[in-house]
Amino acid sequence: MSFRLRIDLRNASTHRLNISLEADKGQSLPTELAFPVWTPGSYMVRDYSRHITRLSSGKKVSKNVWSIPAGTKRVSYEVYCFERTVRTNYCDENYCSLVGAALAPVLAGPLSIELLLPKDWSMVSSALNFRKAGPGKFQAKARDIDHWIDCPIIASRKSHGGKTSFTLSGIPHEIAWVGSPPERSLTEMKEAFRKISSTTLKFFGGAPFKKYWFLLHFGSGLYGGLEHRDSQLSQFDGSSLANQKMWDGFLRLIAHEYFHSWNVKSLRPKALGPFDYFQENYTEEIWLAEGLTDYFDDYISWKSGLCTEKNYWESRLKDINLMPDGFPGHIRRSLAESSFDAWIRHYRPDEDTVNTDVSYYIKGGLLGWCWDGNLRRLTKGKWTLAKLFAEFWKEIGVDAYVSLATATPGYTRAQLLSFAKEKTGVDHGFLEKWVSQRSTLPWQQAIKDFQLKTTERISDPTLHFLGLQLNWKERSGSISKVIAGSAGESAALAVNDEIIALNGTRVQDGEKFSLCLQQARKNGAPLELTVCRGDQLSTKRLRWRAHRGLGLEIVLL
Ligand SMILES: [Zn+2]
Repeated sequence: MSFRLRIDLRNASTHRLNISLEADKGQSLPTELAFPVWTPGSYMVRDYSRHITRLSSGKKVSKNVWSIPAGTKRVSYEVYCFERTVRTNYCDENYCSLVGAALAPVLAGPLSIELLLPKDWSMVSSALNFRKAGPGKFQAKARDIDHWIDCPIIASRKSHGGKTSFTLSGIPHEIAWVGSPPERSLTEMKEAFRKISSTTLKFFGGAPFKKYWFLLHFGSGLYGGLEHRDSQLSQFDGSSLANQKMWDGFLRLIAHEYFHSWNVKSLRPKALGPFDYFQENYTEEIWLAEGLTDYFDDYISWKSGLCTEKNYWESRLKDINLMPDGFPGHIRRSLAESSFDAWIRHYRPDEDTVNTDVSYYIKGGLLGWCWDGNLRRLTKGKWTLAKLFAEFWKEIGVDAYVSLATATPGYTRAQLLSFAKEKTGVDHGFLEKWVSQRSTLPWQQAIKDFQLKTTERISDPTLHFLGLQLNWKERSGSISKVIAGSAGESAALAVNDEIIALNGTRVQDGEKFSLCLQQARKNGAPLELTVCRGDQLSTKRLRWRAHRGLGLEIVLL
């Protein structure tokens, strides 16, 4: 079976696309059209079908499935596209950013795709490699549904998009953007992306793709990226790019998504391909897919000459400071458990996340550093994690151009760790413990392994002495986090309690609160915190103390 998908954006200003899906000559559509509920790389059920309406001759049988009469050759439907994220669709009168999982049902067979754009839109970019077939008409083919879902599309009129390209080791790289014009030239981007690409290609000693597309969506307040086999869709606030720190962050995002073409699209956990697009796909290995990519995106930026060595080590310490040992999430959830529960936790953090979960990005990145240090120490510098990772890819990486349905299955953790032992001679039992046990990581050893000189200082006295995090706005403050087992929790304080007074003094800003806290500390006086919950005032007595691993910062000397 093969299908024709026509996406009509000629009324893009209404944020609605008209889609027509047709079976090829002599064939009929399947009697059930089932739409994906998530997109690979973003591990949450998003129920895309909530944006689909007016599906002709269809009767709904479940949240994402329409039944259509047997023998139907063609259906049409409308998709509302007004969510500016890398996993959802957006279109307006100037440009669009489209994601396959949110546009078409899962079909067994190749697809011919036709884009109908407003006539003055001339820029289209996608790893589907569209060719122009007339004014406002572009055509491409997708080998199968996985290919279609793995290839986001951006398109625009001239004023809201642009393109450039470079070739590296014979591999063409296309850079295309849509949205608001960024505050950095395409030439500057090209130079920086070329450095990132060159370093990453050298890192692995080869590429899992034959051509690569950097697809960029710029707009106020945007941030995010999603990896694909041979492209990435990344969003950023383009107006902030003149600022060096934001530019550095943008390049790390680009390096991160590029690195994913190796780590997760090719070197992929067994559960992540072939995909079940209709439900959660559980795996305990997202710490490796995301955490290790986080560890190496900084490394690639540094080795590409895009950040200083000092910046690099500061990034390493940032992971310790963002996910300090005092966060009780460490003793309630392992990295494996956090990966498994990504579907219901990572994208839905709440006030208690700090007590019950660990970030597989931040803690996974820290694990990468500890792993690297261990490997260097135990092999006396013969092995680094970068070298081992390149070997992982060469040996265990799957050819990303082979259809997912017939490709070699992805790795299991046991397979990866036994390969690591065989290659380096180091028993990787330590890693199994770091991943599966509910405990903190030995980052103090990593500081020694990399011979860094650091010191510890109190960065947040309220968190350090009370186990509370406060949020101050204009002349009012409230509790935003209560650390489990802390002085604050023992005093029966709760998230959202409004701060009224400390030891009888009215406090309305963070500075005054810190001063009162300092004063009380100096006098050794107990603390009385008056808060308002709902419409009830109460005064809580706090037996305050220093909390290990909370409100502290490790900095380079
Ligand atoms: Zn990632």
